[in-house]
Amino acid sequence: MRGFTTSIVHSDRQDGIEHGALHKPVHSSVAYGYEHPQGLVDVFQGKSAGYAYGRQVNPTVAALEAKVTGMEQGVASVCFSTGMAAIGSLLFALLRGGDHFVSSAFLFGNTTSLFGSFAAHGVDVTFVDATGARAVAQAVRPETKLVFVETIANPRTQVADLDGIGALCRERGLVYVVDNTITTPYLFQPADVGASLVVNSLTKYIGGHGNALGGSVTETGRFDWTTFANIQTAYKRSDAAKWAITQIRKKGLRDFGAALGPEAAHHLGVGAETLALRLERQCANAAALATFLHTHEKVRQVYYPGLAEHPQHAKAAALFRRPGAIFGFELVEGVDAFTFLERLDVVVKSTNLGDNRTLAIPVAPTIYHELGPKRRAAMGIADSLIRISAGIEDVEDLVADFEQALA
Ligand SMILES: *Cc1c(COP(=O)(O)O)cnc(C)c1O
Repeated sequence: MRGFTTSIVHSDRQDGIEHGALHKPVHSSVAYGYEHPQGLVDVFQGKSAGYAYGRQVNPTVAALEAKVTGMEQGVASVCFSTGMAAIGSLLFALLRGGDHFVSSAFLFGNTTSLFGSFAAHGVDVTFVDATGARAVAQAVRPETKLVFVETIANPRTQVADLDGIGALCRERGLVYVVDNTITTPYLFQPADVGASLVVNSLTKYIGGHGNALGGSVTETGRFDWTTFANIQTAYKRSDAAKWAITQIRKKGLRDFGAALGPEAAHHLGVGAETLALRLERQCANAAALATFLHTHEKVRQVYYPGLAEHPQHAKAAALFRRPGAIFGFELVEGVDAFTFLERLDVVVKSTNLGDNRTLAIPVAPTIYHELGPKRRAAMGIADSLIRISAGIEDVEDLVADFEQALA
């Protein structure tokens, strides 16, 4: 089998491209015509693999789906307009009123908000400290269908007990969903710890350039869907490994319409080609900055799994190729976070993650504002916490920028 980057950069050519093009072209056509009506019927009935209407599948998007499947060593993937659309579609497609799922309490803020909406629609969720599988086990009920975790949580960088929870899910027959956005398949492949479905926000590291939104769900082939009650009869056809991903495509794209556009798919596919190169540099820059801040007198605390004092340092070292490229930190009392941010020059005050540029954001008054002080305290988010997403700049420029802003 070929290496990670070799596979990505030659992925589009696998099925042959007109004129010998190296990129799959941007196919903007919404609908596809057939010489014989039977051809159209066969596509509608899933008997042949062609295209009918762009809400469900498009050739440019399909090329990106193949790339993501290859990166995650999966069986099949579905791409969505955003990472949130991927998560929402997955739950919408697989869970019913009366079902329950267990989620890590350390989650992307919008995911927390989304899960609250599902609870309001009769799909109950219990949030637990997922750094240990035991807390997950204690929350499981007879009606529990699924467990949802992120690999490295943002912004406090808690690392989920990914292998322990994988073993638990296998034992209890639970669907195991891992949001791999912060680690990406370059640092970690959730299939290795028994994940059933893997979510990625393609907007972040995989696209990498901050110029397109997208998300994906990948089926790993690890879960026995014949044991899962919520698959509709219509999708229980042929390969059982693809039942759930088919239902997710039908419900999330065909019915809910969370489709990724071909232009965005093209941007994301080109971005994916350099994922390994960018992330190596981003991880090295994060390590250098976190190490610098860790010993700085004006810094109270740094949250970065690469530091030996991090509670899940050993777990991160065992599971991930590198400890990621985001970290959080708090300044000592009396040093104002806004003054510090004001003085940063190279680093951009911006939300988002995984951009080529280093980004800084004060977390409490922005992305976690809506949660309120109580939920923030429960998630360990201090008012002064700053999140950094390391970019690919020259490391000397980054360290110098932090140094002068703290001086
Ligand atoms: C950004 C993010 C998402 C949502 O992705 P969008 O593409 O912005 O919708 C989901 N999970 C994690 C961990 C993220 O960082």
